[in-house]
Amino acid sequence: MERELKFATKCVHAGEKPDPVFGAHTTPIFQTSTFIFENVEQGAARFSGEKAGYVYARISPNTPTHAVLAEKVAVLESGETGQTFASGMAAITAVVLSALKQGDHLISTDVVYGCTYSLFSEVLPGLGIDVSFVDTSGIENVRAAFKPETKMVFLETPANPTITVCDIREIAGLARAQGAICVVDNTFATPYFQKPLLFGADVSLSSCTKYIGGHADLLGGVVVGSRDFMKSLGKVVGYTGGIMGVHEAWLCIRGLKTLHIRMDRHAENAMKVASFLESHPAVMWVRYPGLSSHPQHEVAKKQMSGYGGMLSFEIRGGVEAGRRLMDSVRLCSLAVSLGATDTLIQHPASMTHACIPGHIRNKVGIKDGLVRLSVGIEDPEDIIADLEQALSKT
Ligand SMILES: *Cc1c(COP(=O)(O)O)cnc(C)c1O
Repeated sequence: MERELKFATKCVHAGEKPDPVFGAHTTPIFQTSTFIFENVEQGAARFSGEKAGYVYARISPNTPTHAVLAEKVAVLESGETGQTFASGMAAITAVVLSALKQGDHLISTDVVYGCTYSLFSEVLPGLGIDVSFVDTSGIENVRAAFKPETKMVFLETPANPTITVCDIREIAGLARAQGAICVVDNTFATPYFQKPLLFGADVSLSSCTKYIGGHADLLGGVVVGSRDFMKSLGKVVGYTGGIMGVHEAWLCIRGLKTLHIRMDRHAENAMKVASFLESHPAVMWVRYPGLSSHPQHEVAKKQMSGYGGMLSFEIRGGVEAGRRLMDSVRLCSLAVSLGATDTLIQHPASMTHACIPGHIRNKVGIKDGLVRLSVGIEDPEDIIADLEQALSKT
């Protein structure tokens, strides 16, 4: 049997094929909307799906550039095939539209990305899809939420922005037994630190805007799953058209070549920053899956090979003190998004999660004083020094 390549090697090589026409070393950008058929028979066979091949850039597999990226992420996630999208939200929308219909029920982690929450709470009910938001860090809560109509469990772990972790293997097993599929938003951990499909999840998806692109210069999304699931997803992609731009696909291919190196540094820095914050007298609490104080540290240890670059914390003095802290940073940037090479700081209650009603934010732990930090790959001493000087102003 052929030896399986290691993850770092896959980041560099997976999906890439030397250009057979001119021998280009890197994957070319296929800036084309349509593809020429050799004859009518070939065109018809491609349209019917009888023969593999490219047809039109909106129709899966889009272009050869997209195909390389989809294959690369599928290999990294240990899945069968992948599909890229214009954004993480386009990916999530296509997944729910392809798997759910009127009368179905969806169980979702109660703490999810703000726009995911809005899609599930504002758009899906209008289509006749019933949604229950559940604290998935407790398996009993998940078990109790199932109905005969439950067709999907949507998990975000670690969750944005509370960094709550849930047990993918347990919940995926529960979903399977109930005839539902389990979808995991893997944006925070990335396939470098967490491979949901290996724990029984049916689908793993990510916003490429974050660590996969890795440089805060593009929007994109990707979904990986079984060939059967991806076939039905592929149809929805063609009908709804939220596909990734070809330049973005190329940038993601480039970004992924250094994913392993970046993620190691993000995680190493985040652990140092988390420990610094936890020992600082002005800080009330810190949530980082790598800290033994994290409520689900043991679950994180089981399913993650590293803890990523995301953490949240609250300082004494609540919202006002947090605001002074965020206004006083000099090296860190006050910006939403995450997974950039530089350190980003933001206030979920007034920014990324402002779309969630205040009483619900409070109930699920997105406190008004919560500050979210996406720890970058700068020298950790400089990040800590900046936070230290900003904390002194609170
Ligand atoms: C950013 C993000 C999304 C949405 O991705 P976009 O690319 O911004 O559409 C979804 N889930 C998580 C966890 C995110 O952080």
